[in-house]
Amino acid sequence: MVSTQSPRFQPFAGRTMETAAATTKLIFDFSEGSRDMRDLLGGKGANLAEMTRVLGANRVPAGFTVTTDACVGYMQGNGEFPAGLPEELNEALSRLEGRATKRLGDPEDPLLLSVRSGARESMPGMLDTVLNLGLNDRSVEGLARATRNERLAWDSYRRLVQMFGNVCAGVPSEALEQAIADRKRAAGVELDTELSVGELKALVDDFKALFHQTSGQAFPQDPEGQLREAIRAVFDSWMGERAVQYRRIRRIPDDWGTAVNVQQMVFGNRGKDSGTGVAFSRDELTGSPQPSGDFLINAQGEDIVSGARTPSDLSEMKRVLPAAHAELLEILRTLEGHFGDMQDIEFTVEESRLYLLQTRNAKRPAQAAVRFAVDGVAEGLFDRERALMTIEAGALDALLHPMLDPDAEYEPLARGVNASPGAARGQIVFTAGDAVLAAEAGRDVILVRPTTEADDVAGFFAARGILTSEGGKASHAALVARGMGRPCVVGASALDVRLDAREVNVDGTVLHEGDLITIDGSTGIVTADDVSLVEPEVDESFRRVLQWADERRHLGVRANADTPADARKAREFGAAGIGLCRTEHMFMAPQRQPRMRAMIMAGTERERRDALDGLLPLQERDFEGLFSEMSGLPVTIRLFDPPLHEFLPSAEEVARDLERARGERRDDAEELERVLERVHELTEANPMLGTRGVRLGILHPEIYEMQARAIIRAATAVRDRTGEAPLLEIMIPLVAYERELELMRELVERVAGEEATGLEFHVGTMIELPRACVLADRIAVVADFFSFGTNDLTQTTLGFSRDDVEGKFIPAYIERGIIDRAPFETIDAPGVGSLVRIAASAGRRAKPDLTLGICGEQGGDPESIAFFHQVGLDYVSCSPYRVPIARVAAAQAAITSPAHQ
Ligand code: ADP
Ligand code: MG
Ligand code: MG
Repeated sequence: MVSTQSPRFQPFAGRTMETAAATTKLIFDFSEGSRDMRDLLGGKGANLAEMTRVLGANRVPAGFTVTTDACVGYMQGNGEFPAGLPEELNEALSRLEGRATKRLGDPEDPLLLSVRSGARESMPGMLDTVLNLGLNDRSVEGLARATRNERLAWDSYRRLVQMFGNVCAGVPSEALEQAIADRKRAAGVELDTELSVGELKALVDDFKALFHQTSGQAFPQDPEGQLREAIRAVFDSWMGERAVQYRRIRRIPDDWGTAVNVQQMVFGNRGKDSGTGVAFSRDELTGSPQPSGDFLINAQGEDIVSGARTPSDLSEMKRVLPAAHAELLEILRTLEGHFGDMQDIEFTVEESRLYLLQTRNAKRPAQAAVRFAVDGVAEGLFDRERALMTIEAGALDALLHPMLDPDAEYEPLARGVNASPGAARGQIVFTAGDAVLAAEAGRDVILVRPTTEADDVAGFFAARGILTSEGGKASHAALVARGMGRPCVVGASALDVRLDAREVNVDGTVLHEGDLITIDGSTGIVTADDVSLVEPEVDESFRRVLQWADERRHLGVRANADTPADARKAREFGAAGIGLCRTEHMFMAPQRQPRMRAMIMAGTERERRDALDGLLPLQERDFEGLFSEMSGLPVTIRLFDPPLHEFLPSAEEVARDLERARGERRDDAEELERVLERVHELTEANPMLGTRGVRLGILHPEIYEMQARAIIRAATAVRDRTGEAPLLEIMIPLVAYERELELMRELVERVAGEEATGLEFHVGTMIELPRACVLADRIAVVADFFSFGTNDLTQTTLGFSRDDVEGKFIPAYIERGIIDRAPFETIDAPGVGSLVRIAASAGRRAKPDLTLGICGEQGGDPESIAFFHQVGLDYVSCSPYRVPIARVAAAQAAITSPAHQ
């Protein structure tokens, strides 16, 4: 069990003591709550209450919710129930017994309970659940008599001993599964449902023995004791390792706690007119209006989620239980209208009577989210603003995912369920750990497994895609992959995945770890052929959503682009210009390396100018290509930024070559000696803080001169050819002192004067050093624009060297709760963000028409975009593929908070 004194848990961090103290009531009946009480009742509890109000008490089995405050109190009390909880529990139980007209532990006709977790935000499968609670050796007989269904009684009892044993006593699930497998084999049957009453009884004994083995105690026969233990176990599962891990990834605070929902059981395993299922109010993959779902006859809910039995779909339910099916469709419509969002529900049919067990806003792939937003407006479900808010901007990424090349020819190896869209290709790995290692090594991998479970989540993150041989659309693998926007195919049953041998057998074809495999999560196709992937296009619904976003947002969106191809993509995705063109990439091309090298090796300014003269026409051509794509639009070009040594081989490499050259008495030995010397000269202990950015421009002005000339000439050529030049913004990186910028401005203006083409341009700077932020008013005097470089600004504000810290201590910092997000991905609003605020307002004070933008990677991160909106920047600039995300995120920011100009 998890220690409640874990240092990770910080009681009440981020909320006031008064809130907790003022809320003394620790249990709410479903009839008392509502959806507005999410923080206190958790998402599941709040929505159970809301459904009880909207659909009536007959549709939702009666129950109550133990609050998240009770969980927080429990954790603070080192695992003691908070004061008042035991009494409230007794009272709530009596009320429930009254409503159900059954008593817990009644030996003749017992009330059975489900005990379920439910946090503020859904954490699928991470927290514990116990079903059929309240049975014991006597009441199981009573249940059999009262229901006249001996099988139901014993099936329920074996489920209780199994789940309670696993959740409350830590009996390993493999041992429990093994026991079932053994019994099935002995009985010569395939399915759990085929086990006879006698075999189920034997299974109960197997489970009890395992329980005793693990805990040293007998399975508890006292139902109220069972209830207390189950509540305790749900509380404990909140601090369980996998839940903690999941929260780190999803940025859910530890101090929320989970609520516990205690509800009367209904029995989907009561026979042929009973069943259980999950359903979506619309197709959860495409968003098209027909509801979709999975259904299992004669089963309890966990049979679907665990992937133990492969469910059929709702059409099967329509065939066998038409009345319940019709009611289900009606209710889906009602709930969707009521919640104003696509719903994902769990239901159970007991003897033809339909019950709702859960509803929540459906997690859905971007394609479905966009379609729903557009259809929802057309159907009058909500207005455009609300429609925009139903979309998770970051998830739109998936719409921009590659697809299988439609013209490619390939043999499908297998077909499975299309569980999360997009195609992915990579080498096979079989464990989450291997996926993580491979990703760290920069390899693309596909995680291939029979099924997945909560412990595999890190592997989902690391892998390009997920492929399982078992399970349906509601299986763990499918849910998690969709949540993360990873392409996923499940239930590809032709695959025989042999984890121990690390191979997959498909009708005789054997694939091994490391072999190439490609999956298409939109169609369910799996192939081992080498199919190329192609980039997607923006469809009509998406276009509409983006247009609504554009009408609503204040922030401009530009793209970071270095090549004409990037620039074209950027415009296609709706960028209003280029916010960052990095010129050094142009020097990296292999053919240019010799010239670049000559420039760096030059001993005198004269030699350097000669080398640069050779580079000038090349650079001019680069810019012309880029500018042709962007005529009439702003293009911010950053002059040379990186330290020069990045263009030379490493000292070890040169030394090795030199040795060989000497050994072979080659005549390039002398040249290599000079290179080595130069490498040593240029090597810096701390290159990120060394001779780079504007410092190079100050030391070697001829480099920036050449670049300025190339830019002016290229833009002039485009103007003369097309009649329209791009709006040039020449950007000087890494400025700390206003004088640096002043000198570079003079340089650019001098070159422009020499060219005398009459072209207009602006000169501005990256703001990426703390000094520049706090003295932004002085810098603004000589700048036409600022562009925040949040990568360097984060590095220099925190003293974090990006390349060194990301894999090393940031995960540990997140793990220990020192920070709650990776600072290079999402802006550290209180720290780095304060500097941005200071610089923005000081800059604007000094020069009211100063243009303010941001061009670091955070320009494509929705949460950071909301921050930049609040600060009142003019635009964000991000990778072309994130432009649509930024457009939607900027609109959402404008809808939820006004900008402080
Ligand atoms: P999860 O959060 O992993 O979905 P839940 O707490 O929702 O777990 O419940 C697990 C399963 O138990 C669900 O499939 C649900 O259908 C079933 N279940 C929950 N409560 C009841 C109940 N009162 N009667 C019958 N089945 C239930
Ligand atoms: Mg559920
Ligand atoms: Mg920088």
